[in-house]
Amino acid sequence: MRFDILTLFPELFTPFLHNGINRRAFESGQVELCFWNPRDFADGQYRRVDDRPFGGGPGMVMMVEPLARCLEAARLARAEAQADAADVPAPVVLFSPIGRRLDHPQVARWAQGAGAVLVCGRYEGIDQRFIDSFVTHQVSLGDFVLSGGEIAALALLDAVARLQPGVLGDAGSHQQDSFNPALGGLLDCPHYTRPEVWTGPGGDMAVPEVLLSGHHARIQRFRREASLGVTAGARPDVLESARTQGALSKADEAWLATHVPRKL
Ligand code: SAH
Repeated sequence: MRFDILTLFPELFTPFLHNGINRRAFESGQVELCFWNPRDFADGQYRRVDDRPFGGGPGMVMMVEPLARCLEAARLARAEAQADAADVPAPVVLFSPIGRRLDHPQVARWAQGAGAVLVCGRYEGIDQRFIDSFVTHQVSLGDFVLSGGEIAALALLDAVARLQPGVLGDAGSHQQDSFNPALGGLLDCPHYTRPEVWTGPGGDMAVPEVLLSGHHARIQRFRREASLGVTAGARPDVLESARTQGALSKADEAWLATHVPRKL
């Protein structure tokens, strides 16, 4: 798959692409990234990419022309590389507070597709005429304002890369992660590693004994119940949607009935 990223700050991406578990995905080209800087498509000696907003007000707005030329070049390159199936134009994703908040089902869909063109806004945002003409999806990282779309783009790319086959050391280990349908979409259970007993500020803290038992089925059940408990406490909405999707077993419901009081 291939992502073409339109950004005024391509260098912001570099440290994330060559460190950590995901570098395999990026360096092998399993997730190919191509960067396009609207400044390279701007006019004049100063290669201006932003201007004052019509109607007045603070800040600057990204101009439509450099962005449109930049997108055209990216699309042409995708076509030459046959990055998309014939007659299936690449989606054009703009990162914006207007967008749908990024979540696992969206990431899973991007992780299975051919990629997309990602547009990172800066300043007060980008000229609406670019959005109206080209943008097919808007994605938000959450209900807050970033100073640019790059961190949102990185979040999406990072989440997509770790879902690629072979990227996580342990095949299929992402299936044990929070929100994965393999776990019914529940949150992950707590994790422990050595030492077995750690003396914390409140005294000795031992690892739950069952995890040392070597009894696989009991460990599985303990982890499942821990997931149920964590999800019920932190994200009752996630538990409810697991329930409506039929992802909770009879044993799950029995555990919840005795451990988590249901609100009437
Ligand atoms: N004036 C805009 C914010 C502009 S911030 C507003 O009030 O909505 C500059 C750029 O950062 C945006 O164009 C967008 O690409 C990016 N950005 C800001 N917040 C974001 C968020 N929550 N999710 C994704 N991208 C965001």
